[in-house]
Amino acid sequence: MNSRPCLILFGPPGSGKGTQAKLLRQALGMAHISTGDMLRERVASGDQLGQAVAGIMQSGGLVPDELVNRMVDDRIAQPDAANGFILDGYPRTVAQARLLDCVLRTQHIRAVVVHLKVDYNVIIARLSGRRQCPNCGALYSLSPNSPAVSEVCDYDGSKLIVRDDDREEVVVQRLKAYDSQTAPVLEFLRGAGYPCYDVQGEGRPPQAIAREIEELIGKEFASGSGQA
Ligand code: ADP
Repeated sequence: MNSRPCLILFGPPGSGKGTQAKLLRQALGMAHISTGDMLRERVASGDQLGQAVAGIMQSGGLVPDELVNRMVDDRIAQPDAANGFILDGYPRTVAQARLLDCVLRTQHIRAVVVHLKVDYNVIIARLSGRRQCPNCGALYSLSPNSPAVSEVCDYDGSKLIVRDDDREEVVVQRLKAYDSQTAPVLEFLRGAGYPCYDVQGEGRPPQAIAREIEELIGKEFASGSGQA
């Protein structure tokens, strides 16, 4: 029977889900599945799906559930997810959570939810100070992850840009979408029996947050009590 682990990283935009997923995927040997990254790749490739979702993403709204569900379903079946996977930015609506719950139960995948808690004022400051390399996608902030040379990518020297959806007015829309459509997902997952942990996502270095998450899920999967 398959009992590969799944870590659901949950929290508002800018709470550090992507940063934590990148730190944890090495330590835990799990695949990193980011729906935001997958959608941005499709937009950059200019394919039909990418063209259909570009406007929604730019305005801070949510992409339709069927599109995202299909993408995640396919991604979970890839060989690199066979030993477990980290979900970053999914599920984001109760409809997505219902489908995920079905997939997890059918495939006997055990899941733990980690909710990264960050004050909205901190989020607005973080995202509006964020810069991205238009070439390789690397993300920087004013601190603690500022580039060696101001406004220039450490990896390939490109001039950094502000991600389209990190403009302050779009950040406010993303937070609204989170409050109305995503926050209820946590209650759904709790009600469905998944262990849910709150983790403070500000006021300390990302590495310290990652260590806390590692300890939590280490205990959870060792105890055999994760939802299957
Ligand atoms: P953040 O979590 O910081 O908002 P992401 O990179 O996860 O950033 O997502 C960027 C955008 O991609 C979202 O604002 C939304 O438009 C779209 N998106 C990502 N994941 C989903 C999802 N699970 N359902 C619907 N839309 C999504």
